[in-house]
Amino acid sequence: MSGEDERFARLRRDLAGAADRDEIVALFQPQYTLANRRLVSVETLARWEHPQLGTIGPAEFIPIAEESDLIGEIGDAMIHLGVAAAAHWEKRVFPVEVAINVSILQLHDPDFVSRVAECIDSTPLDPGRIILELTESTALADVPLAVGASLALTALGVTLSIDDFGSGYWSEEQVAALPASELKIDQRLVQAAGATGAEALSAAIDFGKGRSMRTVAEGVETTEQLDRVRELGCDRAQGYLLGRPMSGDELEERLRRG
Ligand code: C2E
Ligand code: CA
Ligand code: CA
Repeated sequence: MSGEDERFARLRRDLAGAADRDEIVALFQPQYTLANRRLVSVETLARWEHPQLGTIGPAEFIPIAEESDLIGEIGDAMIHLGVAAAAHWEKRVFPVEVAINVSILQLHDPDFVSRVAECIDSTPLDPGRIILELTESTALADVPLAVGASLALTALGVTLSIDDFGSGYWSEEQVAALPASELKIDQRLVQAAGATGAEALSAAIDFGKGRSMRTVAEGVETTEQLDRVRELGCDRAQGYLLGRPMSGDELEERLRRG
């Protein structure tokens, strides 16, 4: 077995129960309005604090979770962390929207929507503060199922967002079929250089605007990229230029600073 295979096998074994052992934690990345640079929303990003191997990023462990039926318990843990953070900031600092990533696979669980409802109902939080970002790692196989679950989620009052638009996983037809009101423009489009890159970025933003969706530019790393998405009429931006993913305490400090 290669070193890589060994690590994969070990992570798959250790990931079972990781959420119950509180090894799944959240970092938070701020999102700002482009019109007046206000911090209005925060994305929740998963990290696995492995007791021996240290911090493991989601790009490595989320695909393992999706493959081994553990995405449900890890996804639930992230929903609890995101909702708790939103309720805490609403009470202690000021209300901010909190986005939580949801793998399309989580929608296959018939009890998913009721667990989300229960989690939000256990707090005084306005459900409108919660954004669920639908992430796709494989082609969307069961569109009617995803549409049904999405409609039930929007009925709770949460906002649905399409993650990584322009990365190739989502077709315009799929986006149009879902009751999502936010479109996150993939960082590859935001960072693309040259005339072809600018055209693709502009087309993605226009697609969202044409459907009256809020558009969020991801992966903004330079002031040029920030200016460009603002000029193209994007509503919000997120990226290292504006703030890296940080702990809940650091994010709270930023909220206090305004
Ligand atoms: P994503 O949802 O597109 O999240 C944005 C990713 O881009 C994050 O990586 C973030 O740290 C990174 N990022 C933010 N700004 C910049 C920038 O300016 N430049 C660059 N190069 N990168 C930037 P992260 O935290 O490693 O997450 C990777 C992916 O893992 C996420 O991509 C998301 O698809 C998935 N993920 C994270 N947390 C969860 C979760 O709780 N559930 C599920 N299902 N997936 C998750
Ligand atoms: Ca996301
Ligand atoms: Ca994304």
